[in-house]
Amino acid sequence: MNALMQRIENRRDDLITLTQDLIRIPTLNPPGRHYHDVCSLVGERMSKQGWKVEMVRAEGALGDSDRYPRWNVVCRLEGRAAGDCVHFNSHHDVVAVGEGWTRDPFGAELDGGKIYGRGACDMKGGMATSIIAAEAFVAHHPEFSGAIEISATADEESGGYGGVAYLAERGFFDPARVQHVIIPEPLNKDRICLGHRGVWWAEIETKGHIAHGSMPFLGDCAVRHMGAVLDEMEATLFPLLAGKRTDMPVVPDGAKSSTLNINSIHGGEPVQDADYTGLPSACVPDRCILTIDRRFLIEEDIAEVKAEVARMMDKIRTTRPDFRYEIRDLFEVMPTMTPEDAPIVRTVQDAVQLVMGKPAEFVVSPGTYDQKHIDRIGRLKNCIAYGPGVLDLAHQPDEWIGVDDMVDSGKVMALTLTKLLT
Ligand SMILES: [Zn+2]
Repeated sequence: MNALMQRIENRRDDLITLTQDLIRIPTLNPPGRHYHDVCSLVGERMSKQGWKVEMVRAEGALGDSDRYPRWNVVCRLEGRAAGDCVHFNSHHDVVAVGEGWTRDPFGAELDGGKIYGRGACDMKGGMATSIIAAEAFVAHHPEFSGAIEISATADEESGGYGGVAYLAERGFFDPARVQHVIIPEPLNKDRICLGHRGVWWAEIETKGHIAHGSMPFLGDCAVRHMGAVLDEMEATLFPLLAGKRTDMPVVPDGAKSSTLNINSIHGGEPVQDADYTGLPSACVPDRCILTIDRRFLIEEDIAEVKAEVARMMDKIRTTRPDFRYEIRDLFEVMPTMTPEDAPIVRTVQDAVQLVMGKPAEFVVSPGTYDQKHIDRIGRLKNCIAYGPGVLDLAHQPDEWIGVDDMVDSGKVMALTLTKLLT
């Protein structure tokens, strides 16, 4: 074990350089820039070391266009004998830079043991760590059995349809091909993420009747109807959701309850362009749309999640004679949680204990990530998220990844490969 750990230490500079090279490619999503560049960087590196490299464009997937093609790369190295395949999957896209940076977001500046940049922690640091860990393992155990795969995939930040979902639909995560998946998302180096809560996004529209604003009694105000919806949510729905608690180890603690976010509300006349200098016209709003983001627990059934909202709307109708509404589904994801006794969980747990000298903590993510596609489309259950980086820094200004954290979790990854493939 020690010689392998030393090999990771010896690659510290290589790890820093690779992380910096990845951050310096601004793979902003949306719209999805420089995806081919980042996939080439990973593919060429692995190909030089004898890995089989497939560049896969998610042609026709949501978001794919000739201007912004959705590129993915999958690299595979076969061992000397038959055995399991361990796959490290990282998304290569990053979210918008946003305000408040004191560093160059794509400069990848190294300062005080931290590398700064958009995507440093979410998740180019994790991607680089898995590559270095795999390379160190192969150098140490050239006679290993089975196979190792490294993928860099598109669009995790916008649902993963041009990335992992596309690959899963084409058999890349078939349990006959891949047996263990680690997604190096920034969950902290001593935590193993088993899965995530479920999601239901929907639009609620209340309907009214347009009339002159000086005689609102001749119309029917859709915004007032929506006000009644919000009142009812405050009075009954939010308390109901807060009272539901899961046995899943979701972090942070507030996300152990069911939650509902009001994503947006729009009613009446649209907001005018900034260069319009006139006044609004006098109209009663005839429609109001509320977008909700409901996160649900593994103990809940999605049909019941939807029925709760439908029942609330029906209750409002009993007190408002003209109340008309429509609910439209936008998006849904089922909750998933890999069992604690799954082989990948057990193996990484042992490796964390050996490297960090303390037991790994099991967590579940409040939001979803690409495990949803591996689970539902790939039908592969032996999957976790494990990687370096502080989760709270994701999507923040001055995002950074700690070099020591990458080295430590690289050791855990290399040890995991040793346990599964030798
Ligand atoms: Zn991420």
